[in-house]
Amino acid sequence: MTATQTGGTDYDARIRRAERLSSEHTFATEFLDFYKHIAAFQKTFRANIAASSGVKSRGAPAPGLRDPLDLTVLLPHFRGFLSTIEQHAPPALAKSAHQMSLLPSDSWVASLQAYWNHAGKYDQQVGAFAQFLARAFLQPYAEFRAAQTPHAPMFITVRVCPLCGARPLMGVLRVEGDSGKRFLLCSFCSQEWEFRRIHCPTCGEQAEGKLPVYVAEQLPHIRVEACETCKFYVRTVDLTKDGHAIPLVDDLAAIPLTLWAHEKGYSRLQPNLLGT
Ligand SMILES: [Zn+2]
Ligand SMILES: [Zn+2]
Repeated sequence: MTATQTGGTDYDARIRRAERLSSEHTFATEFLDFYKHIAAFQKTFRANIAASSGVKSRGAPAPGLRDPLDLTVLLPHFRGFLSTIEQHAPPALAKSAHQMSLLPSDSWVASLQAYWNHAGKYDQQVGAFAQFLARAFLQPYAEFRAAQTPHAPMFITVRVCPLCGARPLMGVLRVEGDSGKRFLLCSFCSQEWEFRRIHCPTCGEQAEGKLPVYVAEQLPHIRVEACETCKFYVRTVDLTKDGHAIPLVDDLAAIPLTLWAHEKGYSRLQPNLLGT
């Protein structure tokens, strides 16, 4: 895995991409404008995490991805995060951020730790809304730890992230030779791993006839890769069609595809940060 295949920690690029998509796709403007505030917070937070971890570690081995949270690094930033969400989120989320801000820090710790232990693995019933605060806050921390974790070479196709065990959020097609190579992007640590093209990441179906691909006119670089066997689908950003796309951000703009897939009876294995 190379730096370009890590899902990106370049928050400025994410913010610029959100701005561009927001002006092109008015149906997603509200979501993307909110996301820009999240990404701006995450950018500063990520720099703080890196600075504090550098001071602390001094030659000690980096912690494993799901090792316990370093609350001395994280907690001082949580109130600021909640107030960012309260100011910029849609009403229901803003309210839940406000309610969280009134709770004692023990409750913050419990909520963050619960997310950290189960995210992407045992959280199918939790839903994006209930996870939002912990997920948006801890995403830079998970990405930071993932960047410090050695990536072993892979010889088999695995359906969960080889670094942290979480399920994939989505697929990414990257230019390779005359066509594209498919990767899956982790829903927890944002790392990518290579995955066969004709293969359902949910149930393992490999019959091409059972794996239809749909592309909407509005978003020609995003594929809905469905599976007739398990009725789940994976959204895949096709970088061979749009090399400027940033998968995590383009996925947030793909609201019409969520509605379409829902009508067709397909479910998504892991919702994105904003629940679409
Ligand atoms: Zn992962
Ligand atoms: Zn399937």
